[in-house]
Amino acid sequence: MATVHMSAAVQELLGPYGVAQARKEGQRAQCATCTKWISTKTVNVVVTPDPRDPETLRVFFVHPKCGASQVTTLVREAPENPTSDDFQMTVLPPPADGHRLPVLAAEQLCPTFVSQDATTELISVMSPYLQESGFGLVSDASSIPPPADQWTAVLDEPATDTGLLSVAGGRGEVLYAGPVHLPPGWSRTALAGGTVALYVGPAGLDPTSPDTAAQQRLLERAARSGQLLAARVPLVDYTTLAGSAGAS
Ligand SMILES: [Zn+2]
Repeated sequence: MATVHMSAAVQELLGPYGVAQARKEGQRAQCATCTKWISTKTVNVVVTPDPRDPETLRVFFVHPKCGASQVTTLVREAPENPTSDDFQMTVLPPPADGHRLPVLAAEQLCPTFVSQDATTELISVMSPYLQESGFGLVSDASSIPPPADQWTAVLDEPATDTGLLSVAGGRGEVLYAGPVHLPPGWSRTALAGGTVALYVGPAGLDPTSPDTAAQQRLLERAARSGQLLAARVPLVDYTTLAGSAGAS
């Protein structure tokens, strides 16, 4: 019998009757992301309130590698620019073993899914888009991720403990622009190396936690359950960038 996993938010929205129903229906379900039948030990439940009628809930089932159990927003059409600013960004030192790259970990606060048709298919907007631009699914957080040369991370005010970071793709689309909590010494090492490992996916990190080792364990766990896309991305200092732009 499969374990039908529901996050606290999903359970709250479904209520006791809905939870019991989902537990039953999850035993034989098709994945809303990849459309294949689910035969994994765990099935994740995704709930989306209908945009036209918030009282109506749509319940979907996904493989653990295809999505986390969460409450999402359903949109009818893919947005023009699939990136948005509803991300949080956690800055971490390089993992204890494996690649020696400083780490950026982006998590979408409320992932957006697109309804492909009126039935059950949900496609995460971000995931195919990131994979097209060089990101790869990773199975651990210590192997070196593939390069995404079109992407750039720009760090401003690196000498403080709260820097300003922007991460943008090749078409100028912004994945993240905002303050980041910088662990001691992170900026110096990261800017000297000029490359960071950027992870995107739900890992449940706390961007302000001083316990970076605990955050790294959470990131590793998310990678092992197939939740993360990753790429190596150039990191530059805003001042350097502004200087070279002025000189050209
Ligand atoms: Zn799937």
